[in-house]
Amino acid sequence: MTNPRQQELNRKAKQRRYLHSIGRPPLIDAEPVIRHARWLHDEHGMSLRTIGRRAGVSPSFVSRLVNGERCDRPIRRLKAEAIMAVRPEMPVRAAASAHVDITGSQRRAQALMALGFTGPVLSEELGFNGHVANLWRVIREQGVISAVRRDRIRDGYEKLQHADPSDFGASVHAQARIRTVARSRDWAPPSCWDDDTIDDPDAIPEWTGACGSERGYQIHYREHIPFCEPCREAHQKYKTTHPGSGTGRLHDEAVWKLADEGLANARIADELAIGVRTVERALERRQQR
Ligand SMILES: [Zn+2]
Repeated sequence: MTNPRQQELNRKAKQRRYLHSIGRPPLIDAEPVIRHARWLHDEHGMSLRTIGRRAGVSPSFVSRLVNGERCDRPIRRLKAEAIMAVRPEMPVRAAASAHVDITGSQRRAQALMALGFTGPVLSEELGFNGHVANLWRVIREQGVISAVRRDRIRDGYEKLQHADPSDFGASVHAQARIRTVARSRDWAPPSCWDDDTIDDPDAIPEWTGACGSERGYQIHYREHIPFCEPCREAHQKYKTTHPGSGTGRLHDEAVWKLADEGLANARIADELAIGVRTVERALERRQQR
């Protein structure tokens, strides 16, 4: 007489042999399952919990799939099929499933980082279910994004752009770190964008109100706003079309100020987009005074 446990094992062994015999081995490649789970999550905005519930698997399993922590090993057929059978939550409206330019979404996430909102906070608030890697994927990748995803990021941006990162649990240290990252990559804060320009790929952030012109360059100088690329370029062009016009005094004061802050000459030259020799001459002029 066999006990129930033995019966169960026998049944499973028999099922395995049967599945192999008909070319349906119990373990299969995870790749298509991962793609399907990401499609449900990224494109249709389904939560990990909902996908898991529909498929009868744990949300953490779905999470590992979506975040690529489960791509090197095969996956059990029954689980795979259960996930593949999950359909998007609602009939998706054509507009919502459409793909749109990613630029505005990236600028919004970057602008919030410039304010000190960290990856973990934004991955919650911008609709990434806390998955920082997915947030960075959107920030880094070029191309398009689903309209659903874009709308979530826009909603989060509306909510956070006037908020304080500390209220969302970001430490002062973490805020400073992400602001430095943003600064080094020329990511403009919300104050540099208008709602009607932020989605326009050709628009540039307005750090000065006159960016992309020599006047903008001068305002960067005067107000000690780190230079943006369009202003650097405008200044280079201005110098070639106005040889010898010089911004001598302006240079001098800016150089002196940065020198007083303890910056090395090369660093000052870099900050101000001028030659090291110009920095040296400005410092000499101060000594002669
Ligand atoms: Zn500028």
